[in-house]
Amino acid sequence: MMNNVLDFTKCSNCGACYNICPTSAISVNSEEMFYSLSVDSEKCVNCGVCKEVCPVNNPQQKQNLVNAYMGYNRDENAVKNSSSGGAFAAIAEYVLEKGGKVFAAAFSDDFRIVEFKSTEEISLEKLMRSKYVESCVGNSFQKIKKELADGQFVLFCGAPCQVAGLKRFLKKDYENLITCDFSCEGMASHKTYNEYLESIERKLKAPVSDVNFRAKLYGWSRHSIKISAENGKEYKNFAMADPYFYSFIGAAINLRDYCLECNFPENHYADIILADFWAYKRLSKVQNDDTGLSLVISNSQKGEEILQEISDKVTFTKLDLEKASYNMKNKSNSDDFIKKHDEFINNCEANGFLNTMKQFKLQSKTKLMFRYYLGNIKSKVR
Ligand SMILES: Cc1cc2nc3c(=O)[nH]c(=O)nc-3n(C[C@H](O)[C@H](O)[C@H](O)COP(=O)(O)OP(=O)(O)OC[C@H]3O[C@@H](n4cnc5c(N)ncnc54)[C@H](O)[C@@H]3O)c2cc1C
Repeated sequence: MMNNVLDFTKCSNCGACYNICPTSAISVNSEEMFYSLSVDSEKCVNCGVCKEVCPVNNPQQKQNLVNAYMGYNRDENAVKNSSSGGAFAAIAEYVLEKGGKVFAAAFSDDFRIVEFKSTEEISLEKLMRSKYVESCVGNSFQKIKKELADGQFVLFCGAPCQVAGLKRFLKKDYENLITCDFSCEGMASHKTYNEYLESIERKLKAPVSDVNFRAKLYGWSRHSIKISAENGKEYKNFAMADPYFYSFIGAAINLRDYCLECNFPENHYADIILADFWAYKRLSKVQNDDTGLSLVISNSQKGEEILQEISDKVTFTKLDLEKASYNMKNKSNSDDFIKKHDEFINNCEANGFLNTMKQFKLQSKTKLMFRYYLGNIKSKVR
């Protein structure tokens, strides 16, 4: 009997178990609405390492917040091509200048999958920007371990659960490893994203050649999406008027089960935590030109040292740590919301995502949003 094996009833798909499994018995399946993990009983030797490594199975107090800053990259292009203020790009450049490697999330060539790649395989630009779809770390933890053992300087940037997974997989601290995560709302279903992407391809009458969830078409604070096709046509929309983006960011219902009860917001393992600095009006006197602002929190002494080292690349303003950690708290969802979420996901499985958005009357309130957006447009100079 395999009583020493994870049953995956609570799983964030952080990647630790399938990276550590000595017999490669754990695999990731993409047939269901969200990636699911399963164990091949013929390969499994019941050693129990998957249970030991799992950060969900072994919750730990991991916060050590040091300082909070508001920041934006001094390179305007980096800000334009990033989700927030381009802090990740600055940290990554610093690592590359030191001869190191960066492992982060990128789209696959056909934009169907979000996977982890390194700067050895693709350009830094492709690792930048939020891809609001559930991602898979693949065997990147094994590659990182090898790089670290060879003395290579490595940056890993992923979701809080993925950084927790990497740290538990590595089992010890490496001086030559920097980790970044972000304030994470959760991960949206790859199945719903793929159905949505196909509908956009039908609209544009060509395969997709780029997906930009943070196109900043109408400024940073008015979330917008731009999808380009191989024939040069483009789909552009406000996030709140786009069914996929709205299901994730507006209704916050298109989320993996585990994300509803995730406790990583209060237990970040990363050296540096990144976020959109939405509270800039309340917490700073900054003149914002709406190109993008990052909230950057050092969560270890090493993280703080790196932030000091990149101050030639990023303009930082120190913030009150307690106030700036406003989104580092676990969210609690009502029973009603959890029930609605489960119904939504089950309905997507049975009837498709776009039909479900209509059935659940989750089509965004476009007119209302336009009024909201236009009412908020102000020209500001940094
Ligand atoms: C799924 C998701 C949910 C988020 N939710 C919030 C939120 O609720 N509030 C908030 O303030 N900020 C949130 N963020 C973070 C925010 O969107 C920015 O990524 C962050 O502010 C860093 O911005 P940047 O300009 O410094 O760098 P960017 O260039 O935007 O940073 C990109 C980094 O994010 C990582 N990344 C992108 N997509 C994924 C993915 N699918 N899986 C794992 N890692 C990924 C990449 O590895 C890359 O290193 C979320 C990000 C993601 C990916």
